[in-house]
Formats: sequence, structure tokens, C-alpha cells
Amino acid sequence: MSKRDYYEVLGVSKTASQDEIKKAYRKLSKQYHPDINKEPGADEKFKEIAEAYEVLSDQNKRAQYDQFGHEGPSQGGFGGFGGSGFGGFEDIFSSFFGGGSRRQDPNAPRKGDDLQYRMNISFEDAVFGKQTEIEIPKDETCDTCKGSGAKPGTNPKTCTTCSGTGQINQTVETPFGRMVNRRTCSTCRGNGKIIVEKCSTCHGAGTVQKRKKIKVTIPAGVDDGQQLRVSGQGEPGINGGPAGDLYIVFNVKEHPYFERDGDDIYYELKLTFPQAALGDEIEVPTVHGKVKLKIPAGTQSGAQFRIKDKGVKNVHGYGTGHQYVIVKVVTPTKLTEKQKQLLRDFAEISGDIPEEQSSSLFDKIKKTFKGE
Ligand SMILES: [Zn+2]
Ligand SMILES: [Zn+2]
Repeated sequence: MSKRDYYEVLGVSKTASQDEIKKAYRKLSKQYHPDINKEPGADEKFKEIAEAYEVLSDQNKRAQYDQFGHEGPSQGGFGGFGGSGFGGFEDIFSSFFGGGSRRQDPNAPRKGDDLQYRMNISFEDAVFGKQTEIEIPKDETCDTCKGSGAKPGTNPKTCTTCSGTGQINQTVETPFGRMVNRRTCSTCRGNGKIIVEKCSTCHGAGTVQKRKKIKVTIPAGVDDGQQLRVSGQGEPGINGGPAGDLYIVFNVKEHPYFERDGDDIYYELKLTFPQAALGDEIEVPTVHGKVKLKIPAGTQSGAQFRIKDKGVKNVHGYGTGHQYVIVKVVTPTKLTEKQKQLLRDFAEISGDIPEEQSSSLFDKIKKTFKGE
């Protein structure tokens, strides 16, 4: 596929000024940004726009392009355009909108800030996922002034102190020679413009705080502390830039009897001594419903059984965890006289008579001391 002419991509003439090129790029990049435009091909289109802007916004590259076209002055010498030198639209996007080092134009579109929201969810919702809705306080672009901060019908004035650049260059003579200090303009606080008549809704801020409902799909298998990016739901962009992203961090509540370790679930199963000694078949709860588990005769406290695939389905789709059942043999604390007698009989037959910690043991000790 042959490359389209960069001027054609941006829809500007060959004699377009830097300002016209910048304006065309802002308009097109907003229209085709993959976070906004979900149509097939928007991605490719956006890359093409970013690439064209990358070249045409740079005086040197533009001059080379005008002279030599896409191929560049010699083989490989111009590999920067769209070839391996081009690190994807994200790089360019952030350097242009993110207030990066290249451009300090206060009027340039910038991406809004990202937001973080901590969401408490139940153990089951983390395992199975859920469609839900959250309400977050959020700065939204002011409807009255469309974000400019100026009263409708009026326009912000370009700052005369800094001529709209937001910065002031101050030349200072020093013993080492002439130095140029660059400071943020104090008249406009670096905005490059001054709002003469403020918008009455937002008082000049350009944004208003609203509570916004956002639909959230909790991904099945998500674990405590993991986060989900909801693109475009962060703070609004500045100067028409794209909105930031919303990061939802999940706090998974503890379960009364299940414990999770990655995609595996642990469950402590309490058994009586007869069950452990004689064996049994028991219904064990799992997050997927009850499962029958055979306990072999002679099971020790601490023994571990695995119930295959009854754990958590991996959030990234890498299989399913298991449920591990850990046996705890419970010693009875309240015994009837008959139960006690049976246990004594059991012990006698087993050949190891336990010294019961009762009055009888105490009597025995006393007898020993008395030499009886
Ligand atoms: Zn406003
Ligand atoms: Zn200024």
C-alpha cells in the first residue's frame, strides 16, 4: 500500500502555516483517537495522522519531506517516518498532549488526569464477575462555557504580558555571560490567556463537579488489589484534549469460610474423631455448589484433599484453580458420662490408658506423696 501524502492526510495545503497544521491535527486526532473512536480502521487512521503531524510540525523534517517525499534523501537516512523509528501513536500522543518536554504551549490540548476509585466487592463477585454501577464525584467540562471558563459570548483574551505563550524569557547579564531565564507568566499563571468575564456556572474554572454514574463490569476472577482501567472516564481534557482514564482498584472482602490464594480456594473441613478414624462421605461447599468428598478411614488432622477445577476461573483466561480441603479433627469438649466410659473402654482396648486430668489424677498424685 502506498503512503498517502502527509498534507493530504491532515487536509492542509502545502503552504499551510504551523498554526494551520496544528489546528488540523488537533481536530483530526480528537476525531480518530482510539479511546473515542471505536470504528474499525480508526486506529490506523490515527497513526497516519500522528505520523503526518510528527513530520510536518518539525521545520527540518518538513523541509526534507517537501524535497524528497516519503523516501527521504538517501536509503535509510529517513527511516524515521512510519518505519521502525516511529514508536507507535501513544508516544507521540503523550509527548504532544501530556505536557511533555517538546511543547510547552499552554493552549495545546492535554489529556485529563487519571482518577482512582477503590471498590469494595464480595468474594463471590470477585470469583464470578458482575455488571454493576458506581457513582463517583468527577470534574466535568462545564456545559455553559464548553470548558473555556469565559462567559458565553465572550472570549478569553490573549495575555499581553507573555503574548499567549504562558512564559516569560528574562535575559540576565551575569559574570559568565548572558543567561536567559524562563519563568511562568504571573499575569496569566501560565495559561496564556486571561478570562475577562468569567462563566457564572463554573466561575472561570471550565469544569464543574458532578456525581457521575459509571457502568462497571467486574471481571470474573479478579483478585484483591487488582485494577481495571476504564478509558476516558477520568478528569476531562484541557484545551480540547482527551479525558483521562479511571482506574478501579478492587478490595475483595473476606469470606466467612473460604480463603483464596491466587486462583485456588482453601476450605477447612472439621471432622469428628470417629469420622476421621472410620472414614465418611461428606458434602463440602465450593463456590460452584456442594461437592461430595470421600474421607478415607484413618485421615489425620491436617490432611489435604484437592477438588479439581472448583476454584476460580483465571481472570486472564488461563484455566481454573482448584479447591483444597484441609482437615481439622475436632476434639469434643462436652462429653456425657456414657461417652466418657466408651472412650475409656476404647483407650483400654488400645492399650494406652490416658491419665485423666480429673480428681482421680489429683488423688493419684496425693497418694504418691503420702507413700501409699
Ligand atoms: Zn463554565
Ligand atoms: Zn501571560
